[in-house]
Amino acid sequence: MRSDKIGLVDPEASAKRNASKKTAIIAIVSLCLVASCFAALYSTVSGSSFGRIFGSDNSIEAAPCPIQNFDYLLLAIRWAPSDCHSTKSKCVPKVPQSWLIHGLWPNYWDGSWPQFCCNTDPFNVDNVKSLENDLLAKWANLLKGKSADSLWAHEWDKHGTCSAQSKKLVGEKAYFSSTLNLFATLPVADWFSAANIVPSEDAKYTEAEATAAITKHFPNVVELACQTSEDSKDSVLDTISFCYDKTTLTPIDCPTPKHTCKKGFVYPTSRK
Ligand code: 5GP
Repeated sequence: MRSDKIGLVDPEASAKRNASKKTAIIAIVSLCLVASCFAALYSTVSGSSFGRIFGSDNSIEAAPCPIQNFDYLLLAIRWAPSDCHSTKSKCVPKVPQSWLIHGLWPNYWDGSWPQFCCNTDPFNVDNVKSLENDLLAKWANLLKGKSADSLWAHEWDKHGTCSAQSKKLVGEKAYFSSTLNLFATLPVADWFSAANIVPSEDAKYTEAEATAAITKHFPNVVELACQTSEDSKDSVLDTISFCYDKTTLTPIDCPTPKHTCKKGFVYPTSRK
């Protein structure tokens, strides 16, 4: 009678099972060893280690985000006094009287945009250390109680992680330095003052006047955006958007400009 029928262990079958188990374990261990050797080799050759990439200055950047399609880039700059006009109590004590970068945003032609494209590459301030002074001056945080790098982190996580389709914007350092370079070509306060558009609590300017002042230096269609001040109910010029080709980063017309500054608007000072 066969032993398996009566629940007895067949020593020959048991030995075979043990032998196959051993072979399987040896195969798995060998595979793991080979895989780690390849990983170590790849790490040495490419400077990459399990998804982390070491930049030329030894900054650590996560592996680039997957390519996200979009149509064009929009650089939004904001007039700090306007941003804090009605929300003064929420702003830092010293609001600079200057244009600041809000963000460089990948957009679709219809005005929508991709966002938060890759959560495996969160903002790491170490990657923009060499740009820090420029960022502090030109891409400043205006919100009281928020850290100096809080806006950079938000802009990278929401928009920068979607920008990799533009080769000049791959990785934090490239994204922030390319944005700073574009901003450096837009001395809007000077363009305005050359056209007698100067910060004031009383003077009112029109969209046509402001656009004419910009067009002398930046001939493409831009978008002006105003907010209504909660204090004075005035329309205040808050943001100007400039648009760029996603490959060359050269100026293009903004495709869907909205006109929120139709009435005379204020270009305020950074009043105390
Ligand atoms: P967006 O999401 O359109 O790129 O930027 C708007 C967001 O940025 C809003 O959530 C707003 O609260 C935030 N924001 C605007 N200005 C500042 C700032 O100066 N500092 C920080 N940390 N966030 C800001």
